[in-house]
Amino acid sequence: MANKFVLVINSGSSSLKFAVIDTISGEAVLSGLGECFGLEDSRMSWKYQGEKKEVAITDEGNHHQAAISMLVDLVNELGLTENIVSVGHRVVHGGETFTKSVLITEQTIKDIEAVQDLAPLHNPANLLGIRAALEAFPSLPQVAVFDTAFHQTMPAKAFTGGIAHELYEKYAIRRYGFHGTSHFYVSREAAKMLDKPIDKASFISVHLGNGASVCVIKDGQSVDTSMGFTPLAGLMMGTRSGDLDPGVIEFLLKKGWTQDEVFDTLNKKSGFLGVSGLTSDARGILDAMEEGHEGATLAFEVFTYRVAKFISSYMVCLDSLDGIIFTGGIGENSLPIRSKILGYLKLLGYKEDKAANEAARFGASGIITEDGGPIAMVIPTNEELVIAQDAVSLI
Ligand code: AMP
Repeated sequence: MANKFVLVINSGSSSLKFAVIDTISGEAVLSGLGECFGLEDSRMSWKYQGEKKEVAITDEGNHHQAAISMLVDLVNELGLTENIVSVGHRVVHGGETFTKSVLITEQTIKDIEAVQDLAPLHNPANLLGIRAALEAFPSLPQVAVFDTAFHQTMPAKAFTGGIAHELYEKYAIRRYGFHGTSHFYVSREAAKMLDKPIDKASFISVHLGNGASVCVIKDGQSVDTSMGFTPLAGLMMGTRSGDLDPGVIEFLLKKGWTQDEVFDTLNKKSGFLGVSGLTSDARGILDAMEEGHEGATLAFEVFTYRVAKFISSYMVCLDSLDGIIFTGGIGENSLPIRSKILGYLKLLGYKEDKAANEAARFGASGIITEDGGPIAMVIPTNEELVIAQDAVSLI
């Protein structure tokens, strides 16, 4: 039987990530990125059979549409089209409407539009990708996979803010949480590694990448998470502040900052970048720290301390804990960051196994704590695979 592939599309406001995933092996047969949409140097690059290529997007019109039609030509040229059975789309916000992945219909599109208010930067961009793909692949079933869906099992005490309840009733203001696909995937992989059924396994999943969040998973379900109404809440991130006293916003507005300046700062000029004054990239922070850069050292300290505080506070959600899972670009690779976080948890019994921590990098998974004590582990995430699997199971 021929291999079945799923085309996975992650359409952002000025970019479009794509991958063709083999649903049996889980491997990305083709992966690529269209970027700088709306700008002169808009381009598309991809990797196929180990070779990388890049071309300019010359179309002057809608770059999302142009990128998708280039993608159609590319998969045709590479002879992959015949094997593509479905298209899976990442959608950032599903509000309270979407608790799992769904087949895309006219109604689904209306429902995604209806929650657009909650993610004004992301959902419209996701919909651009969906519309362009529906036009380009009219005969293929298409599926939407939501970042928020996994967290819809959170109890009211975890998702309710300490504000007037009518704000929830009127505007749906509550904690939603994001990175759901990643927390879902790594918790399933961790349960397999420990040989436990997922519905009897509990984890604290720590996704540390450019965006970062912690999720508590009890008996396989999300019961709390650090991102909130928007992906700005919780941990400090590459350029996002994470949790902050809302009084700071009032203070800056009174100082004459505009609303846009305040939120631009909190979303794009804070986190590693803002604290270090140097870079949003964790590798850059670690390198500068080695050279004694004070801002980078402070950024490292703030970041790791806050992650550890979130992990330890989440102990209240659980009766037992099978493991802390590190994932995301930083969580999968950064030895000093994992080491520092585990150091904060010594009162809880966590003891880093230095050799194991060194080994679990660059795509390798593994337990990184000493035998006999509580477990912390590294599991590389694979959001594309979850999207591909959902896209296949729904057709
Ligand atoms: P992601 O958003 O999951 O792609 O993660 C991006 C982040 O992972 C960036 O801050 C990178 O600097 C960080 N990262 C990737 N590789 C490493 C590494 N070897 N050591 C430390 N951080 C890394």
